This record gives sequence, structure tokens and C-alpha cells, in this order.
Amino acid sequence: MAEFDLIARIQARSRARADIALGVGDDAALLLPPDGQALAVTVDTLNSGMHFPAEALPADIGWKSLAVNLSDLAAMGAQPLWCTLSLALPRADVAWLDAFLDGFLALADGAGIALVGGDTTQIQGPPSISVTAMGAVPPGQALRRDGAQAGDDIWVTGTPGDAFVALTLWRQGRLDVTVPGPSADLESVRQRLLRPTPRLAAGLALRGLAHACVDISDGLLGDLGHICERSAVGARLRLDAVPVPAAQRRLAVAEDPYAAVLAGGDDYELCFTAAPAQRDAIAAALLAAGTEGSRIGSIVAGDGVEVVDALGHPWRPPHAAFQHFSADS
Ligand code: ADP
Ligand code: MG
Repeated sequence: MAEFDLIARIQARSRARADIALGVGDDAALLLPPDGQALAVTVDTLNSGMHFPAEALPADIGWKSLAVNLSDLAAMGAQPLWCTLSLALPRADVAWLDAFLDGFLALADGAGIALVGGDTTQIQGPPSISVTAMGAVPPGQALRRDGAQAGDDIWVTGTPGDAFVALTLWRQGRLDVTVPGPSADLESVRQRLLRPTPRLAAGLALRGLAHACVDISDGLLGDLGHICERSAVGARLRLDAVPVPAAQRRLAVAEDPYAAVLAGGDDYELCFTAAPAQRDAIAAALLAAGTEGSRIGSIVAGDGVEVVDALGHPWRPPHAAFQHFSADS
């Protein structure tokens, strides 16, 4: 594989910045971290057929491979700084790479994260993309999973469930991920599956307000469960407080509209907890960040995540939280 052609194209599109002493092109990048701040470092790998449909367009794959990592930085309350990109590709396809970079760099530029290096290798099999993202957060201000306290409100941003609805429609052969959806509803959930918006501004705005935070990649219930485990607390969600967006109701992919919202995956919204005294401050912070938020329950003493309906009856998810993009999983 002519990997040097590919690397040259990546290098040509990488940019100089004051906090990058040396970027793409040497044996390692030289970076200048902000004084006294902690570096938040995260890596996520996307495999074709597993984390995105095999036929997904390269620009969408590029966007999503960075988005899932930026979502992790958002969930830590970190300011994005730099990233590296490891590409394992079956062949040196220049057109594929250019389109991939279009999507990747569109999001990178918007988020202020710079591509400073990576690795390019050939594999036998479909593409695998691994991104490492680095961000900065002042000491003691990171939004960790282990800070939730009994009595906290539980909040969620945006409209979880959209991506799962799109995934379900794709699995049923009712959604083509390569072209705009035939209706506004279909197109909105398609975008949410292929081009999720990492909640970076919300994560930054929640510094000093949220006690605990996680991004929802494996489903709201499962990821809230991580907060509970790490914080040694339980959670009680009120079904009547959980938003089911109108588009999800109209598309009606499941008998139970709450299944997608609570147990779907791939949403990249933030779920966080905070003291009830901060309700107004949080509403203002989310508004300033341009992100909707819903208050959906409370942290309680104990363990586990419980969902109750308006009558106090327990609700259980009708399917497992996480589903892959291959037909046989
Ligand atoms: P080495 O053999 O020292 O690992 P490489 O040939 O792998 O060097 O990479 C050369 C330069 O190109 C390095 O600076 C590396 O960070 C960069 N690079 C390689 N692949 C990518 C990629 N997919 N994205 C960004 N930078 C890359
Ligand atoms: Mg290398």
C-alpha cells in the first residue's frame, strides 16, 4: 500500500497552531499543554460492520470516529486540544481518504481540536479507525463518574433514542444510510446516527455544577448504571419525566417508545447528576451551551437503576442495551 501518499494528503491538510511545536511528519508530535491543567486522554476504535454500517459514506465515518472521542472529552468537561488518527485500511484509496478527512476535519475544526499525528497501516478486511483525543481540564474540575450523591437530580441532554431508532430502521431495510432520508423525521434520526453532535459546550458549562457525568454510548440506563457503580449509589428514573421526541413517536419502531430512549445506544448525549439547588444554574448553563436538558430522576442511597411509571410501577427494558451494526449480532 502506498501509505506515504495517504500520509502526505493528511499532512497537507493539518494546520499549524501555537500549542503544537511539531505536528504531523516527524517520529512524534511535540505538544505544549496549558500550564497547570490536567490532560484528559481517551481512545475509541470504530470497526466497519461493528460500529458503523459497512456501506456508510467515508465522510460520515470520519465525522463519527472523531465525534465518539469528543463525546468522551465532553463527558469529562475537558476542552479539546489535539488528536491522533490510526487508520487500518484494506487499500490505499485516495478518494476514500479525502472524503473521510472532509468529515473528520469538519468536526475537528468546529471543535478546535487539531490532528497532530497518527498511523496508517494495511489490513486484510474492512476499515478500522482508532482516534486518540486529548483535552485539558483544570485540576479538580473534571466531571467524573464517581461523584454522584444521594439526593442529586439526574439530567440528560438532547434526545436520546434517535440513533437507535435510525439503527432499527436500517436493520429493517427502511433506511438507507448513504442518502438523505425521504422524510424530515427519517433524515433527522439518520443524521443523529451518522453525525452525532458531541456535547462539548455543555460539558464545559457543567464544570463546577455537575457532581458526576457520563456520555451515553451504550444506552442511558447502562451508562447511568456506570455512574451508580462508581459512586456507590442507586438511581430512580421517573418514566413520565423521560422525553420521547415527536419524531421518535411518529417513526414508531418499537411497541414501547421508552425502549429507544432508555436502552438504545450510540446517542452521545450527556447524563449527569447535580444538587437540586443548582437547577436554575444548570438550566442557564445548558441554554447558553445551546443544548436541551431534561431532569429525569434522582440519585438514591443503595444501588442499581430503577425506572418507575407515574403509578410507581417498575418498568423494564424490552431488549439488551447495545446492538451492533452487523446483521448476525
Ligand atoms: P513512523 O514510522 O515513525 O511511525 P509513520 O510513517 O507511521 O512514521 O508516520 C509519519 C508521520 O505521519 C508521523 O508524524 C505520523 O504521526 C504521521 N501519520 C501517519 N499516519 C497518520 C494518520 N493516519 N493521521 C495523521 N498523521 C499520521
Ligand atoms: Mg507509524
